[in-house]
Amino acid sequence: MGFFSKRRQQPQPIEIKGRQLECPICRNDTFFIKKTLLNTRLLSFLELDWANRNATCFVCSDCTHISWFDT
Ligand SMILES: [Zn+2]
Repeated sequence: MGFFSKRRQQPQPIEIKGRQLECPICRNDTFFIKKTLLNTRLLSFLELDWANRNATCFVCSDCTHISWFDT
């Protein structure tokens, strides 16, 4: 049924271009992955819909700093 498929995932190491992603704040190396749209009501309000893009966010599992990657 997939009802529980949106449970919080386990943090995991991320590799970007062959390099281990490391949190610039706390040097942690495991992250939660979030796919999101860089689409906000504010952007739409400002008619910046052209700026709407898909993005992948890696949320540091320790300090919650977010690293964004345009996908
Ligand atoms: Zn961190």
